[in-house]
Amino acid sequence: MRLLIKNPQLPNKFGVGASNFMATRRKLISLKEKKIVFQKTGGRCHICAKRLKFDAKSGEIGRWQVDHILPKKRGGKDSLNNYLPICVKCNRLRWCFGPRTIKKHLNMGVIACRLVKNKTHLGKELHKIHLQNRLANKKRRKIKK
Ligand SMILES: [Zn+2]
Repeated sequence: MRLLIKNPQLPNKFGVGASNFMATRRKLISLKEKKIVFQKTGGRCHICAKRLKFDAKSGEIGRWQVDHILPKKRGGKDSLNNYLPICVKCNRLRWCFGPRTIKKHLNMGVIACRLVKNKTHLGKELHKIHLQNRLANKKRRKIKK
């Protein structure tokens, strides 16, 4: 069994001018390599520590992906030393942001949560936007299936 991970060094199937995110192709990773990556954290997401299921299928709880510690866009390599397991939700949020940006997002998230908790005008607006975003994501997922 071979699994796929991103590899921008392979030809770009999206053509010249596609965004860097779309331009990345996937490198094959063997089942043995995937097991090694999974065991690095004892089968937990390296961001949120959620328990992962090694062979979870699409849509199943515990589904995970191989994450580049140093994103490829920032010069990270396709190697076991640069891989950690990540749950699908964290991978979508993390994308290819660097540690400085992630810290900024966390910090702003804490501020936003405080505003929501204190029911300030801005907090109410943020909460409304958050709920709208979640609803839009749910609808988008239903349309795909
Ligand atoms: Zn996670």
